[in-house]
Amino acid sequence: MSASVAVRPGERLDRVRWMAAGILIVEDDRNIGNLVRRYLERDGYRVIWVRSGEDGLVELERQRPDLVVLDVGLPGIDGFEVCRRIRTLGETPVIMLTARDEEVDRVLGLELGADDYVPKPFSPRELVARVKAVLRRTQPRPPSDVLALGGVELRRGAREATSSGATLDLTLKEFDLLACFLKHAGLVLTREQLLEQVWGLEFPGGTRTVDQHVAQLRAKLGAALTIETHRGVGYKLVRP
Ligand code: CA
Repeated sequence: MSASVAVRPGERLDRVRWMAAGILIVEDDRNIGNLVRRYLERDGYRVIWVRSGEDGLVELERQRPDLVVLDVGLPGIDGFEVCRRIRTLGETPVIMLTARDEEVDRVLGLELGADDYVPKPFSPRELVARVKAVLRRTQPRPPSDVLALGGVELRRGAREATSSGATLDLTLKEFDLLACFLKHAGLVLTREQLLEQVWGLEFPGGTRTVDQHVAQLRAKLGAALTIETHRGVGYKLVRP
């Protein structure tokens, strides 16, 4: 079994599922698969990576991912055929990867029902941006998915945060920390509460980690929102 599920040590499964969309990567090239997985995981997605179309179809049924990143050139059944079968099974969005930058492939991929198409070589950032765009288009979004205060908006499923419409470039933990603050805006949260909510009780570090991340988040939020320090207690998120 070559699938691997990206759950970091100390991160609880229910929290991961609540926060992140699941992405299935079907790619036989080890370097590309590793790179794509690393970039998607860094953005907080749950990632399952398999190396053949046959395994991809098995994991599609088993894991029910929110999106599939699908290589065209695979051993066994090729990506086009996998895409066609995915379409007979349901609506799971598909982004196809190919080494060939030919119009005919692009058209064939889209005709088979792929949602987007990324020719190799590609920048991993570009692929992550495409993943976000496709999820934004295709994911039904319950109201609770969006957290907002002032001009800051955070979409948990797509792992996107914006300030006055401009993307906030947040790390995984900064994102989760901001989500926690937004959920409890106007309330003082203790460092221990933040540690438990964002890092999980198993986190071996101390409250200093919270202080460091709050400082980083403050710098990135700029004037958009204020994180007040309540000495000896904790932090509170308010409008400026
Ligand atoms: Ca390949």
